[in-house]
Amino acid sequence: MTVEPGIATTQTPTLETYLKHYFGYDTFRPGQRDIIDAALAGQDLLVIMPTGGGKSLCFQLPALLRPGVTIVVSPLIALMQDQVTALQVNQIPSTYLNSSLGIAETRDREAQLLRGDIKLLYVAPERLFNPSFLGFLVQLQSRVGISCFTVDEAHCVSEWGHDFRPEYRRLAELRDRYPNVPVMGLTATATDRVRQDILHQLRLRDPFVHLASFNRPNLYYEVRPKHRNLYDEILQYIRKTEGSGIIYCASRRQVDELTAKLQRDGVSTLPYHAGLNDRLRSENQTRFLRDDVQVMVATVAFGMGINKPDVRFVIHHDLPRNIESYYQEGGRAGRDGEPAVCILYFAPKDIRTIDWMIDQKVNPATGEPLEQEQRIARQQLRQVIDYAEGTVCRRTIQLSYFGEQFPGNCNNCDNCRNPKPVEDWTVDAQKFLSCIARCQERFGMNHIIDVLRGSKGQRITQKGHDKLSTYGIGKDRTADQWRLLGRTLLQQGLLDETTDGYPVLKLNARSWEVMRKQQSVCVAVSPQTADSDSDRRSQTAVSVDAEALFQRLRALRKKLADERAIAPYMVFADSTLKSMAQQQPQTLAEFAAISGVGSRKLLQYGDKFLSEIHGFRSEQGLPVALEPEVPSPPSAPESDDFTLAETLSTTLALLQQGCSVAEIAKRRHLKSTTILSHIVELIEQGHPIELDALVAADRQEKIRAAIAQVGAISLTLIRNHLGEEYSYDEIKLVRADWHRSQE
Ligand code: ADP
Ligand code: MG
Ligand code: ZN
Repeated sequence: MTVEPGIATTQTPTLETYLKHYFGYDTFRPGQRDIIDAALAGQDLLVIMPTGGGKSLCFQLPALLRPGVTIVVSPLIALMQDQVTALQVNQIPSTYLNSSLGIAETRDREAQLLRGDIKLLYVAPERLFNPSFLGFLVQLQSRVGISCFTVDEAHCVSEWGHDFRPEYRRLAELRDRYPNVPVMGLTATATDRVRQDILHQLRLRDPFVHLASFNRPNLYYEVRPKHRNLYDEILQYIRKTEGSGIIYCASRRQVDELTAKLQRDGVSTLPYHAGLNDRLRSENQTRFLRDDVQVMVATVAFGMGINKPDVRFVIHHDLPRNIESYYQEGGRAGRDGEPAVCILYFAPKDIRTIDWMIDQKVNPATGEPLEQEQRIARQQLRQVIDYAEGTVCRRTIQLSYFGEQFPGNCNNCDNCRNPKPVEDWTVDAQKFLSCIARCQERFGMNHIIDVLRGSKGQRITQKGHDKLSTYGIGKDRTADQWRLLGRTLLQQGLLDETTDGYPVLKLNARSWEVMRKQQSVCVAVSPQTADSDSDRRSQTAVSVDAEALFQRLRALRKKLADERAIAPYMVFADSTLKSMAQQQPQTLAEFAAISGVGSRKLLQYGDKFLSEIHGFRSEQGLPVALEPEVPSPPSAPESDDFTLAETLSTTLALLQQGCSVAEIAKRRHLKSTTILSHIVELIEQGHPIELDALVAADRQEKIRAAIAQVGAISLTLIRNHLGEEYSYDEIKLVRADWHRSQE
């Protein structure tokens, strides 16, 4: 294991040391540690974790610690560029090869790789098997070694998944060529069928399988009825919500219409759908990633390619195709683990639209209906409707779809926050389940209900089901009530249903527990009431102060990101900014301790964020550290960025050349307030600064007099004493000079 120069070597560094150094995080997320241990031991791996679970780290950290290069197969060019940029800003040696590069650039990168300067190489699957690249891989293996083949978005190998990519099918050939190189597959796919397919298709050998819960606790789920004033409701919601959001619509036309309306109402919005040309699509996507626009209105064409961690809300304007799509699309919110909101709008008339679309599924050659596909689509539609109309915990319903039992009471969905009254329906459940048993588990819900309610229909008598002991024992409940019970049993995992489009009810072990009276059944009964106007922003409460500082830090982040042409989240994540706003670090050491601040980013951005925090604190009249420490870089950075000492001396040099504050700000692409904060520091440090050039002599006198009256501690007090015509900047400068004169 090679040790990076930036890592203290007095003790054997722990994995946490590396985590902090490279990525800035203090602790591993659930599962990451075990996965990384297995990867370091050279095992094959299958990592199944929901979106935002932190899969990338599971191969990136081992890649850094093992000899050789890790090859990462990633399906989309945009995705790999983003990931590589995000790594490079942490100074992690990584690169990508794909069709977007010219020959010279490709040669250049290949040479870097062969010199052993790169730890992670991202490639598109189609490139992997072109003959010249295969030749290059052979060289790479013999010169520096290949430490792992990592297949990101591994569900692309499966036809059963939602993004099948035929090129992924060839990945197994890598096994033949490099039998000793471990293979790691990663995916957020939730269905078992796809997981089995990945294991098989990638030919994983005795893999370490990590299957995380698919619960995304930071997401708030809500279903709202579509009212006539739907648009106003959405507009209002966006206006009162900070941060980015996606609105999914069913058709391109709707996307265009909604975009136009929102733009007209002053919301910064762009559209995304398959009808736009490639260039426009990728441009809109980039502008969204970089926070140039707040809202993306899109069809589901806008999907996997977006890795934006700080999407704060996903609104479904229309019904999704199935529960899995809903889970994945909504799941694009809150990848960073911060609170985010998923809202689904539902109107019964949407069902007819989708139903009609399902009817159109025909064989293009013969024009005959594709019956099997239609049946499956209808069943999936019904499950979505059950979700929308469901009265139990939304998580319980979603997760049951993936075979995961969730106990409910999540307190982070509409149904849990405004629970419907529940009734004990155990006896009815027993009747229902035993009727399924009597019908030999060969019928769907409607048939069972007909039997229970004593229907005289032909199907019942033909099968002789009017002779069953359960025939007619459920006349006391309406068909709708029985359906509610049936759905509840399915959603609570107390009953199963086949998924091939012929929904047949099947008993499971827990059904028998109900029939044996070992398990009671509660049903939420009241009709769903919509109180959609109540404010349900599930943001963590932050104090007013911290909120104001957070906004300033966000603006600074955006500026720094724009200067570097990267996405703001690559500077710092929202959660990191929030911690800064709450903890308000005042020294670089305190700053370094914030989660999300790694060694590289400390050097690059530490002083800039500290100045902003200083500036904020002094304006608020809060104490600020008078002597910001000068950072001692852990490793010598070859960078164009400034450490705090350097940035101050640059400002000093420009001042001495006679530049004004405004000129310096312009030349350095910094705000005037930042330059002023530099000057304040410089004065406090005792540098000879000509104060008269910055603040007129008579004003200085007034400010000094005020300090004599009310003391130097609170800027606000001084300002109140002086009146509005005095600016905080002037006061800060004179106060710094006053401080120095007291020493
Ligand atoms: P996935 O690929 O599973 O969807 P990512 O790897 O993109 O998720 O990670 C999602 C977010 O979580 C990123 O912003 C990443 O920086 C952050 N993250 C990953 N691991 C940690 C950790 N140990 N502590 C804090 N944040 C983390
Ligand atoms: Mg990922
Ligand atoms: Zn819930």
